[in-house]
Amino acid sequence: MSIQERDSQYLWHPYTQHKTAAPPIAITRGEGALLWDENGKQYIDAIASWWVNPYGHSNKYIADAIYKQLTSLEHVLFGGFTHEPAVVLAERLMPLLPDNQKKLFFSDNGSTAVEVALKVALQYFYNKGEKRTKIIAFENAFHGDTFAAMAASGISFFTEAFRGSLIEVTRIPVPLKDSERESIKALQELVATNDYAAFIFEPLVQGAAGMVMYKPEALDSLMSICKSNGIFTIADEVMTGFGKTGKNFACDYLKEQPDMMCLSKALTGGTIPMSITTFTQELFDGFYDDDVNKALFHGHTFTANPTGCAAAIASLELLQTVEMQENIQRINRKHLLFKEEMEKHPRVKQARVLGVIFALDIDRGNEGYYGDFRNRLYDFFIVHGVVLRPVGSTIYILPPYIISNELLGTIYNVIKQAIEEIV
Ligand SMILES: *Cc1c(COP(=O)(O)O)cnc(C)c1O
Repeated sequence: MSIQERDSQYLWHPYTQHKTAAPPIAITRGEGALLWDENGKQYIDAIASWWVNPYGHSNKYIADAIYKQLTSLEHVLFGGFTHEPAVVLAERLMPLLPDNQKKLFFSDNGSTAVEVALKVALQYFYNKGEKRTKIIAFENAFHGDTFAAMAASGISFFTEAFRGSLIEVTRIPVPLKDSERESIKALQELVATNDYAAFIFEPLVQGAAGMVMYKPEALDSLMSICKSNGIFTIADEVMTGFGKTGKNFACDYLKEQPDMMCLSKALTGGTIPMSITTFTQELFDGFYDDDVNKALFHGHTFTANPTGCAAAIASLELLQTVEMQENIQRINRKHLLFKEEMEKHPRVKQARVLGVIFALDIDRGNEGYYGDFRNRLYDFFIVHGVVLRPVGSTIYILPPYIISNELLGTIYNVIKQAIEEIV
């Protein structure tokens, strides 16, 4: 029996209606920007396997670092203990973040990184005896699938079944060109109530919403309103972090500094699940007390797993090479040319680029997030050996940084062909 056939006996896949979904493709090998399935068919990984893999599949540099770590200390509990990989990772990462970021907390994935940030915001005020129990987030945000992260997420069918069991979150519009004023006004009304602990956002690019992009100046305005009203700002850089936007972090485009940052996805180059939430000194100090009850009682078994830390250190080293930085700029230039071309296409409503992220909206009214049109596009790309996951009528590319110009050209061509044949 094939892997694909054996899969269905026991496995339950994410975001999948098993009754109607096609069976999953069994991948047996990955190298660089390429994947191969069990029948030997080749695919270009045009979305870096859900945005986690900038340095290519089966990256030898990261693999060697992991192997070396596994043979000296694979894991040790982080409560009451520490280890050099965690310390080195913190020493290397913190100087890359906005200089108000002083403390770092480990967890396992993007959702838990967000969970930690939201809990810290809420408990900070609880510890102070102030009643600020609500959160502000953007419409169509995505912050993960655990309960607090889900509450902050605004994509309704992801969260609809759990309404009523979620922390209180109020949404404001994303500050696009024609909604910036409305967004600022909505925020000003909320902050006046003194009910809110934090504002969480995906800086500059809302990934899961379909790579919706907005300007740093607009985010600066919103963040400064929060700052003047004692509301913490949480930059969820789980998707945007580590070079995706053309700078190390999307926050590098801002004048304002966030109070907290959430990092995951590319943190370990797509090898080991790990995430980090970072904080200002002020937030840390809100828990620093003789009273044990004021501590942050949050942790995960695999917190700061040394193997994950070793993978993250190696990944950071790769990110900072001249070669990788040039790759990011090279992809950006190619994307901009493709954007210019696609903007002229009568069936393309809008195209946009930031860093290695390219997105275009097909002119088709309101298509369902996982609707029929989206599925036809998805299937077309798969048949043509390109892994792309359109969102509604939006097609986006977020390739591994090491992708060649030739493979990038193939992705562009397949997209053009899809627009001709499917639309
Ligand atoms: C993917 C993502 C998350 C959730 O991360 P998981 O590792 O899937 O839990 C949170 N925030 C953003 C912005 C993301 O893109």
